[in-house]
Amino acid sequence: MHNIVLFGPPGAGKGTQSEKLILKYNLIHISTGDLFRKHLGEGTELGNLAKKYMDEGNLVPDEVVIGMVDDKIKSTKDANGFIFDGFPRTVAQAEALDALLEENNMKISCMIALDVPEEVLKERIKERGKTSGRVDDQNEQKINTRIRVYLEETLPVAGYYQAQNKLTKVHGVGGIDEIFQKITKVVDESI
Ligand code: AMP
Repeated sequence: MHNIVLFGPPGAGKGTQSEKLILKYNLIHISTGDLFRKHLGEGTELGNLAKKYMDEGNLVPDEVVIGMVDDKIKSTKDANGFIFDGFPRTVAQAEALDALLEENNMKISCMIALDVPEEVLKERIKERGKTSGRVDDQNEQKINTRIRVYLEETLPVAGYYQAQNKLTKVHGVGGIDEIFQKITKVVDESI
């Protein structure tokens, strides 16, 4: 069973690589950003709550995110493993995830951190904004906020997994398949 944390700043390619990993390893994709967008689209209470944070590029409060992930894990039967994309984004979320997995007799196998220079991230997000329809992809100030929030609040999560010897950095610039090969090597060695 593989439980993978795919880590990196906005625009690092987590979504793209997750799609390929899900197919190769038959994993359940837990992207908290996608889950929030789904709630938003359906106009749920959770979606309305998350909207004001998402629109500004800020993090949704930990307890809201953790509750949503807990529900998703519990409602998934017979999974071959999970890929966590865009979660955990704070050390409190990482601790909560370890506790949730332990309750279900699981643990994180590895964290893969995609390393991409800031200028490349900004270009990729702006390019994605042309088709994603995401408010937070289309405005320079919001993009800058998301990168700042990543550096200040999310980067310490890498240290959390490093302390457990689970962190591997992968250079995230190049061809999609080339990056995918590097990621699968790490996953295969993490069993
Ligand atoms: P993403 O699609 O991962 O870039 O997430 C889009 C937005 O959803 C973020 O800018 C946050 O506002 C919110 N979000 C997604 N995942 C999390 C998380 N793990 N913790 C807090 N907020 C999150």
